[in-house]
Amino acid sequence: MNKLIPYGRQWIDDEDIKAVVDVLKSDYLTTGPKVSEFEERLAEYTGAKYAVAFSNGTSALHGACFAAGISEGDEVITTPITFAASANCALYVGALPVFADICSDTYNIDPSDIADKITSRTKAIIPVDFTGQPCDLDRIMEIAKKYNLIVIEDAAHSIGATYKGRNIGSIADMTTFSFHPVKTITTGEGGAVTTNSRKLYEKLILFRSHGITRDENKLVNVQEGPWFYEQQFLGYNYRLTDIQAALGISQLKKLDKFVRLRRGLARQYNEAFKNEEGLILPYQNAEGNSAWHIYAVQLNTEKIRIGRKEFFMELQEQGIRANVHYIPVYYHPYYKMLGYKKGICPNAEALYERILTLPLFAKLEQGEIEYVIENTRAIINKNKN
Ligand SMILES: *Cc1c(COP(=O)(O)O)cnc(C)c1O
Repeated sequence: MNKLIPYGRQWIDDEDIKAVVDVLKSDYLTTGPKVSEFEERLAEYTGAKYAVAFSNGTSALHGACFAAGISEGDEVITTPITFAASANCALYVGALPVFADICSDTYNIDPSDIADKITSRTKAIIPVDFTGQPCDLDRIMEIAKKYNLIVIEDAAHSIGATYKGRNIGSIADMTTFSFHPVKTITTGEGGAVTTNSRKLYEKLILFRSHGITRDENKLVNVQEGPWFYEQQFLGYNYRLTDIQAALGISQLKKLDKFVRLRRGLARQYNEAFKNEEGLILPYQNAEGNSAWHIYAVQLNTEKIRIGRKEFFMELQEQGIRANVHYIPVYYHPYYKMLGYKKGICPNAEALYERILTLPLFAKLEQGEIEYVIENTRAIINKNKN
C-alpha cells in the first residue's frame, strides 16, 4: 500500500459537486434559500422543531451559550475528553468551564461527577457524544431539571446516532453539530444548532448575524422605512453560505448510508480484534446506537511492551495515520494559565495515556481496512509481553 490512510476523510460525489455549482450560477451565494432548505432538512432529520445553520461547529457552540443566557461568573460543566471548542465556548461568554470526569467504559461524561461539580453558579452542562456514542442523556437531563440547568449537547461526533429510538438533535435543550470535513457529513466549514424552543431559536438567528433584526414585529423603535433594521445586542457574523448549505443538503441525503457504512466497518474492526489482548475495544451497548465517528482503542499496556507513541509511529511507518482523541482540554497551556491543574479528572487522564484512533470513514475501502487490521495485529504480535 503506497498511499496514506488518514483517520478520517470526507466523501464528495458528483451529485455534491453539481449542487455546489448550481448555487454558484444562481442569485444567492451567501445566506439565501439553500441555507433555509438545509435548516429545514436538518430539523426534519433530527426531529427538532428548529435548526439554525452556523459558519462552523465552534460558532454554533458560542451561539448556544449566548442563547442559553450564560454570562460572566457562570459555570459550565463539560468533559475534558473533547475538542477544546466544547469548553472554549463557555470562555467566549465570560463563563468558567468546569470539568467533570468521564466514565471509564463509555469515555463519556459521568453524570454522577456532573452532580458532584454543581455549585450555585452552575448554569449549563455541555455533554459531548464522544466517538459518536450518545451520552447518558436521560440522567443528564434529569440532573439538569433538578438544578434548573440548560443542556447543550455537543453532537459534533454523533449526527445520525439515536438515543432510545430518538434521533440525536431533539433531546437536549440545544444540540450543536459540526460539518468539518472529518465529521460524518461536511459543508467544508459549517455547523448548526437544533432546538425545540422558539425563544432559543429566535436568539440564535439574531446572534448569527450581528444581533440585527428587520422583523417589524420585533423592533424596539418605530420602523422608519423599508430599509430599516436594528441591532439589538452584540452578535457576530457567523453565517453559513448558500454554497456550503447546498453541499450540506446533498450530504444529508447520504447521512444514513454513511452511518451504515461506518457501523459496518466498526463491526469489522471489533470482530478482527476481539481476541487481541493488546487492545481494549470501544464501548458498545445493546442498542448499537453509536454513529461511529471515530474508532478509538486503548492499548492494554499490561499485554504489550510498547507505549502509545511507538504504536502510533509504527502504524505511521506503514502509511496508516492514526490519531489521538483527545488531549484533555485542561492540559493545554492556555487552560494551565487560567489555573487548571492536572489531577482534576483521573479517568480522563488515564484514558489519554492509552487511547488511539484508527482510520474510520465511510469511504474506507475493504482493502484499506484489512491493511489496517493486518498491520495493527502485526505490531501487537511483535510487541507482546
Ligand atoms: C469538530 C468539533 C467541534 C468544532 O467544530 P468546528 O466545526 O471545527 O468548529 C466541537 N466539538 C467537537 C467534539 C468536535 O469534534
